[in-house]
Amino acid sequence: MPDAPSYGPCLLCPRLCSADRGSGGKGRCGQNNQVRLALASLHFGEEPVLVGKGGSGTVFFSGCTLGCTFCQNHQISKQGLGRDVEAPEFAAICLALQTAGAVNINLVTGTHFIPGIIEGIGLARASGLTLPVLWNSSGYERVEMVEALKGTVDVWLPDYKTRQSATAARYFLAPDYPEVAAAAILAMAAGYPLEYDEAGLLRRGLILRHLVLPGQLDDSRAVLTWFAQHLGGRALPSIMTQYTPIQALAGRPAPASALSAEEYARLVALIDEFDLGEGFYQELVPGSEWLPDFARPNPFSAELSRPVWHYALGFVTPK
Ligand code: SF4
Repeated sequence: MPDAPSYGPCLLCPRLCSADRGSGGKGRCGQNNQVRLALASLHFGEEPVLVGKGGSGTVFFSGCTLGCTFCQNHQISKQGLGRDVEAPEFAAICLALQTAGAVNINLVTGTHFIPGIIEGIGLARASGLTLPVLWNSSGYERVEMVEALKGTVDVWLPDYKTRQSATAARYFLAPDYPEVAAAAILAMAAGYPLEYDEAGLLRRGLILRHLVLPGQLDDSRAVLTWFAQHLGGRALPSIMTQYTPIQALAGRPAPASALSAEEYARLVALIDEFDLGEGFYQELVPGSEWLPDFARPNPFSAELSRPVWHYALGFVTPK
């Protein structure tokens, strides 16, 4: 099995579907060999050590390798909203984020474009990009690809969603997710001690996110236990409570309600049980504030996001 990142036959993600993307074919992730983007924006909703004053420079890729039934970005992850970009434009987008004041480049769900991302970030670095590069992903990665990314990525931002194979099978059609993600996350953490810049922003290391699923606090306990055992003291935990029910993908199950106030109180008590050190957890914000609409020039609220590039508009001046 070749370990160097390549589009054909494609073995970039644990699906190992071997699609011949090198000739323009599409894989299970829905994408061919052209990097496809939906949005680049200054984002103010990430963890404080990733936001600072200028915002995190998020770059949202089209397509996805995991396919959660409850994906809040389904317009781009499943429906393919976005536009193909060549490496020079990708590099220019990263540099535009830097010029606009971003404190990092935050690559959101890029696993299926690893070869293009390595090329594009390399080009951006050669053209003056100095910001840390974040890998923001589901955690469903091959260890070999994590190793291949280590010359490109400075901060890892995986979301470890579940320790239960049955949950992963039900919601992601990936029963191997708990073990595959655990191995990938440990590979990410190796050689990445937490490092901060003079402003207190994270410039190297790993933040382990966990999106709490309503009705599954036992699973959250299992994830926190795993974190304490394997990463306690050398990574930052980030507990996310923003799960918002959407129209589930056709014929697939998804939790039907948001986290209740009672569940949230139990979650806070659970977090207190663990001595996790520095870390983050979201307040419970009812409603759909977190649900983006990527067809809009600014898919998020003005408080959360200031676009720099949009698939339908090209470069825009952040307001
Ligand atoms: S990245 Fe896409 S094409 Fe490649 S193995 Fe995964 S699902 Fe298949």
